[in-house]
Amino acid sequence: MTPPLPPLIQTKKKLSDLSTFGIGGPAEYFAEVSSEQEMADVLVFAKKNQLRHMVLGKGSNCLFDDQGYSGLIILNKITFLEGLDSGQVKAGSGYSFSLLGSQTARKGLAGLEFASGIPGSVGGAVVMNAGANGKETCEALKSVDFMNMEGMITTFQRDKLSYGYRSSPFQKMKGAVTAAEFTLIKSMEARQKQIEIIDYRKKTQPLKEKSAGCVFRNPDNGHSGALIEQCGLKGKKIGGAMVSEQHANFIVNTGGATASDALKLIRLIQEQVRLQTGRQLKMEVRYIPYE
Ligand SMILES: Cc1cc2nc3c(=O)[nH]c(=O)nc-3n(C[C@H](O)[C@H](O)[C@H](O)COP(=O)(O)OP(=O)(O)OC[C@H]3O[C@@H](n4cnc5c(N)ncnc54)[C@H](O)[C@@H]3O)c2cc1C
Repeated sequence: MTPPLPPLIQTKKKLSDLSTFGIGGPAEYFAEVSSEQEMADVLVFAKKNQLRHMVLGKGSNCLFDDQGYSGLIILNKITFLEGLDSGQVKAGSGYSFSLLGSQTARKGLAGLEFASGIPGSVGGAVVMNAGANGKETCEALKSVDFMNMEGMITTFQRDKLSYGYRSSPFQKMKGAVTAAEFTLIKSMEARQKQIEIIDYRKKTQPLKEKSAGCVFRNPDNGHSGALIEQCGLKGKKIGGAMVSEQHANFIVNTGGATASDALKLIRLIQEQVRLQTGRQLKMEVRYIPYE
């Protein structure tokens, strides 16, 4: 049964346009929200109508299904930024995490240099505990504003949140991260460090191609990319999905890749790495099934 739709909610939105992989069929329902009030309206609507839903940031860690998504995709565009001239920076969860990394470094603030080049939103980084160059989002985090399905916001202090490698408590909570506050420290080296980080990224990652970043989490005491390379899988292709020649933990969409191509390649990599090295690779990219 289709409920009467509020004006914010559209139907049939192509998810390939909303994911950096460029893969995915249509979302049944879609809403773009640019304020806390709009987020609240949409979450309350989803709850009231028992609509399956998902909050999407920049879609840089998602593999959508070829059939699409049988529910409501909420595209988060809450993009305010406060406190850039101080060490306490608060950003709306839809703000670009990469831009935040370069802007804070340019202001001589250290703590988020690693964010420069991570093509996610602040909310996505908080939820995924995005990390690079030996740093993680949770390290600079002071607090997180989280909206529940009734549209009520709670501010969680960092020390009350249990974070791990690419994991956060928000991954299991229903609702949306609406903002995050970071504590940064004055540093003369911040800008130089951030430039080095972005230069290294450009040399080592296929940034001009469509991908969702590292497909697999690194196993304990190992690097997924090195294991995949060791198994001779660089350049391995199924349909339009290919293991990047530049970085073996990236699968790139060479044009017209389907989710089915990417999933087949993911399974093949997992199988070969297990057979040849005895290691189990777990996915970091989130596959979002149709239903
Ligand atoms: C070229 C490239 C390089 C990358 N490099 C890195 C890297 O160095 N380190 C790293 O950790 N990752 C990296 N990634 C992966 C990705 O950028 C990060 O995981 C990022 O944090 C995801 O943010 P996003 O906004 O795109 O999240 P999405 O892909 O939109 O969503 C990811 C998950 O978070 C949830 N989510 C997003 N926003 C919210 C919100 N506001 N409230 C509640 N839930 C939310 C979604 O529901 C989904 O489950 C890379 C990706 C690419 C394409």
